[in-house]
Amino acid sequence: MAERTIRKNVIVVGSGIAGMAAAFRLRQAGHDVTILERGDHVGGRMSSYEKAGEGGLYRIDRGASWLSHNYHSMIELLREAGLASHMLPCSNELGVLRDGRVHRLSFVRNSDLLRTGLLGWRSKLKALRLLRDLAAARRSLSWSDMSTAAGIDTESARDYALRRLDQPLLDYLVEPLCGTQFLAPADEIAAVGVFSIMRGTFGAASFTFDGGVGQLPSLLIGLPLMRERTRVELNARVKEVRPDGDGVRVTWERDGTSRAEHGHACVVAVPGPIAAGIVPSLTDDQRTYLTGLRYTNDVHVTFGLREPPSETALGVAVPRRDHPDLCVVLYEHNLGPGRAPAGRGLVSLVFRHHWSAQRLTLDDAGVIEDSLAAVTEALPELAAHIAEHREMAAVQRWERAVLARPAGGYRDLARFTGGLDPRSPIQLAGDYFAYSTTNASLATGEQAARRVIAALSPAPAPAP
Ligand SMILES: Cc1cc2nc3c(=O)[nH]c(=O)nc-3n(C[C@H](O)[C@H](O)[C@H](O)COP(=O)(O)OP(=O)(O)OC[C@H]3O[C@@H](n4cnc5c(N)ncnc54)[C@H](O)[C@@H]3O)c2cc1C
Repeated sequence: MAERTIRKNVIVVGSGIAGMAAAFRLRQAGHDVTILERGDHVGGRMSSYEKAGEGGLYRIDRGASWLSHNYHSMIELLREAGLASHMLPCSNELGVLRDGRVHRLSFVRNSDLLRTGLLGWRSKLKALRLLRDLAAARRSLSWSDMSTAAGIDTESARDYALRRLDQPLLDYLVEPLCGTQFLAPADEIAAVGVFSIMRGTFGAASFTFDGGVGQLPSLLIGLPLMRERTRVELNARVKEVRPDGDGVRVTWERDGTSRAEHGHACVVAVPGPIAAGIVPSLTDDQRTYLTGLRYTNDVHVTFGLREPPSETALGVAVPRRDHPDLCVVLYEHNLGPGRAPAGRGLVSLVFRHHWSAQRLTLDDAGVIEDSLAAVTEALPELAAHIAEHREMAAVQRWERAVLARPAGGYRDLARFTGGLDPRSPIQLAGDYFAYSTTNASLATGEQAARRVIAALSPAPAPAP
């Protein structure tokens, strides 16, 4: 996008990857940007931090930990921002546990589905149907606005699997995918969600950043383009965004003191239920929709280990048949160098949302103890390894982790997006327009920025 001559001030609420992508595109278009962020760091669910162990520093991703070359919007933004050199390749394997044995599938080769010992030959034949259905669904899938999938949103992932596939494919593919992506069982998730995950996950290699997945928002904020005319206010909780004269008025609060500022436009890039509370110009129906969005809870535990376990996959999905609570083990040292001190391991235990919901307010010691009890049941060798080599443990808690849309949720989304005004000076962004991945959030932030840029553009001069 070329530098513009008519410079306006645009306020961005939220510095997750949706807000940061919007801010970057607005700066590229020549506008001044003010970012208001409630937390004490940028990145939201795409942020990383360091924690010391005996042997040095572990780098822990608070939320997102896996990225794919299918993330075309992210890769294009990295290229334009001159940040592509920070991308690193990482392991391309996803393990699936079945009866105590780990079967590894490549993210890159869809044909692994036909070769794996995870499934019998009858299921492999049915898997061909899944690949055909995915190919047909692709044209309805979008990264920035999944209302495009309303027409194919007719059933849950479980009903789809039982209608078109078979029980083993439900148990050992569809359930693990719903667990790892949505932290929820397949009957709570629309079949469209499974097609979205497969489109986003398979057929391309994984990548990471040299400073952890959460490095991207920090890198963006450090760009000369952003340092120049971007103001970032941390610990700034926005209370209200309302139209005001020829722009918007944003009220925010820090340390109990209320402040207000005027912008020509605003991108509100916070989770849907929070947007519902701060944008009074939404209609009652829009507010009801946003308030009712279902995000799953996540409480997960990350262990720093003096020795890495021998697993080569990035993660091992645990089907519900093998354990009701534990849904995936992430071997984060396989993401690349710098996650754990040399020769050490970093492993996270991630749980289905019902387990997390019961532990959102439990203290760290209680969460760690319960997580170890679960891994002892599901993967006793890993539990023994953690017990022997543990030198650090960290607990993450997300009240709103990832969006879990049930069947019909994309039709509801289409009704919601159909009522939004693309010319409004207040534009919304966030993963609730698509599904919870960093690339989708980024794409929605870019879309909001495009709309704001268009709304702020001078009207074309009348023809002579
Ligand atoms: C545990 C977990 C694992 C995940 N794993 C992956 C993965 O491996 N790969 C992947 O691609 N995606 C993953 N995701 C999903 C991905 O992280 C999110 O979909 C994406 O980062 C959301 O970005 P966002 O900008 O839409 O929202 P957020 O990151 O939530 O950003 C919103 C920001 O707004 C701020 N805010 C909220 N209210 C206010 C207010 N009133 N005033 C000012 N600021 C406010 C918040 O503090 C936050 O910084 C994961 C998510 C979680 C939680």
